[in-house]
Amino acid sequence: TKDLHTFDDFLTFWAKDRPDRVALEGDDFTLTYAEMEEATARVIHALQGMGLKKGDRICWFGKNSATYFTLFYGAARAGIVMVPIGWRLAEPEAAFIIDNAEAKALFLGDGFEACAGTLGTRPGLDHCLTAEETRAIIMKGERGAFDPSGPDEAILQLYTSGTTGNPKGAVLSNRNLFGLRKAGLDNPPPHSLWDEDEAVLVAMPCAHIGGTGLGIVALAAGLPGIVLTEFEPTRVFDAVENRGVTRFFIVPAALQMLLNHPDCAKTDFSRIKYIMYGASPIPLELLRQCIAMFGAEFVQNYGMTETTGTICVLPPEDHTVEGNPRMRSAGKPLPGVELIIRGADGKEVPTGEIGEIVTRSSSNMLGYWKLPEATASTMDADGWVATGDVGYKDADGYVYMYDRAKDMIITGGENVYPAEVESGIYGHPDVLEVAVIGVPDQKWGEAVKAICVPKPGASIDPDSVIGWARERLAGFKVPKSVDVIDALPRNPSGKILRRSLREPYWEGRERQIN
Ligand code: ATP
Ligand code: MG
Repeated sequence: TKDLHTFDDFLTFWAKDRPDRVALEGDDFTLTYAEMEEATARVIHALQGMGLKKGDRICWFGKNSATYFTLFYGAARAGIVMVPIGWRLAEPEAAFIIDNAEAKALFLGDGFEACAGTLGTRPGLDHCLTAEETRAIIMKGERGAFDPSGPDEAILQLYTSGTTGNPKGAVLSNRNLFGLRKAGLDNPPPHSLWDEDEAVLVAMPCAHIGGTGLGIVALAAGLPGIVLTEFEPTRVFDAVENRGVTRFFIVPAALQMLLNHPDCAKTDFSRIKYIMYGASPIPLELLRQCIAMFGAEFVQNYGMTETTGTICVLPPEDHTVEGNPRMRSAGKPLPGVELIIRGADGKEVPTGEIGEIVTRSSSNMLGYWKLPEATASTMDADGWVATGDVGYKDADGYVYMYDRAKDMIITGGENVYPAEVESGIYGHPDVLEVAVIGVPDQKWGEAVKAICVPKPGASIDPDSVIGWARERLAGFKVPKSVDVIDALPRNPSGKILRRSLREPYWEGRERQIN
């Protein structure tokens, strides 16, 4: 697969190399690689017939499906930019993305037909198609001639999760999507060492790189992508036991949902080669429980939308040794990824010192859509992306990601990273989930506060949580107060929205952001 760089390259190569191998298996339909090549050529013909040209934006609003992936692969093959919208978004939020992207056409997923009358009439949209209409193109249309997209042309616009502010549209190219995936095929997990009989599960929403990106992983390796309409523990168990899946990626909150499900212990995970997880910090205790429960090899992924997903990988061998400090690491940069830790003065800091994680690779985005200032402050002229994440590198090159710079708490002059405190509280017998924030404090500037969700039937005694934390954390990291809440606010990627939790405490006051 050495000389393959674009959607057109991969689709034509696999269609010749393995025409009868399944490429995509969804609840809506299944296509082989030969059929996928044909279907994407039909999609292009139809999109061109709708007046769409290279660089035009189209939106998808719906759950995951083979319809979505086939539409995306077709559009990308001809350089028409797909903008998937998270299906959990409310209509005004979806409308913001349609307008912001200046989309010319909106494609609706199954069950989203009613949006035709609302979202489908946004100004600027020339077309709105239902999933049924899109499938008619995929299954029965004609193919036409087209000019394939080049390696550095835009093909996908993914909005960041909006954890720290408004979502921004990261514009991604063929090279961004395939560069590291392809290099990785000969390298460490999660992309390497594929056996011919493997299949990848797409379990996370397609509006995020952890969803759409997994489809790309399957396409890059020429293996089947098994598409789950949405994440649901029993569907994952079924896919693992009955649909040939050998690898999947899910976020820590989803791992927790698998563990909590009564069918988990009954499920045979023996065919799973790698369980990949990432996108938010994982409490150590949860990771330990997962290793004990699944018996599979775990791979942590660290990355962001702006880097087209994974840039660092913590391989299985670093997950096995109890007491291994690397269990807290986000892993090592993938081959082809440069990563440095930058101090406040903008210079690289020595090994072991804390600073901002800054990275460069073929996967760094082209830029944010229509946000030149945000682009310039995130990505410099040499292509280095500032992640906004704080951490350090050890002597062996392992990256330890502390937390987001914006969430760091400064209390009495000490820096406290919420993820570390959360990890220390996690495991308390009454605590199901916990989020840690900084609240204004007369004496300390900011004080550490833990907001806990009790386990079903349990009640939380703040003193007991504080005592538990005191046994496991340095004094200045121990929460000064504990609140109890029914559920933590999360965005659709399962990330805890600490800024919403902070809001009531900071009302009317300026929080110093580092
Ligand atoms: P926004 O940029 O809109 O505020 P976001 O940063 O959550 O939202 P994403 O691009 O989906 O949007 O997420 C990337 C971020 O997720 C990283 O910058 C990092 O903070 C976090 N993250 C990713 N992988 C890991 C990991 N393995 N461990 C801890 N945190 C992670
Ligand atoms: Mg971000």
